[in-house]
Amino acid sequence: MKEHVARKRFGQNFLVDSGIIAAIVSAIGPQKDQTLVEIGPGLGAITEPLMARLDHLHVVEIDRDLIARLKKQHTPERMTIHEGDALNFDFATIGKDLRLVGNLPYNISTPLLFHLASYVGIVHDMHFMLQKEVVERMVAVPGETDFSRISVMLQYRFHIEWLIDVPPESFDPPPKVQSAFVRLIPKDVSELNAKDPAKFAQVVQTAFSQRRKMLRNTLKSILSDAGFAELGIVPTCRAEDVTVEDYVRIANYLT
Ligand code: SAM
Repeated sequence: MKEHVARKRFGQNFLVDSGIIAAIVSAIGPQKDQTLVEIGPGLGAITEPLMARLDHLHVVEIDRDLIARLKKQHTPERMTIHEGDALNFDFATIGKDLRLVGNLPYNISTPLLFHLASYVGIVHDMHFMLQKEVVERMVAVPGETDFSRISVMLQYRFHIEWLIDVPPESFDPPPKVQSAFVRLIPKDVSELNAKDPAKFAQVVQTAFSQRRKMLRNTLKSILSDAGFAELGIVPTCRAEDVTVEDYVRIANYLT
């Protein structure tokens, strides 16, 4: 088959380190009866070992050349290829209890994580390779400079585990950044206490729109001094000092 030239615009850094690939597949631990969906199978570094353990795999891929290769290599009985942009893809069309995996394109990883967070109800778990910097933000706690909108929005819905650090040499071409492999497990519905998830998202987005400013100023248009007092939240604190639970309390107060 013709050699594929990696496309920068699709964030193509292909995994080539067999030790890392084996560690990833072992961390995922695919079982025959499970519905696995790989985002961005590329040249198949993770796809092939996953398929060796599964009867069927769903993949979502945007690159037409890579899609053509996949079609030559796999029958529809073994692989369903969803052609297109994972950012607009409706994962609910595949089914429920999905196990999402992928070495994600780093150029779209943050918006993709926000898109995937909306599928928390139909996801069993997610395993992703990401830019280490993004993982640092995902697991950051209040008071740390990395604590940001993505920390709050993902920690509200998922238990997040940092599994493996991966150096640039594990990829071809090597990315300019360090990477890390993580597991996200949806929390139980009973733990998701925001009465209106859209209001919660709005409060978090507004608070972090000017993260260095006092909350009294950033949330001025939606939360009064009396509101801060009633909630017991210090109005002079900044977005990065507020816990996930307190963001939920603010949203519920406004709902
Ligand atoms: N899984 C392969 C590996 O580990 O070697 C490839 C990983 S590469 C970092 C990212 C993959 O995602 C590529 O196959 C790329 O074409 C695909 N991709 C990029 N943007 C995408 C998008 N918006 N929707 C779906 N796939 C995308």
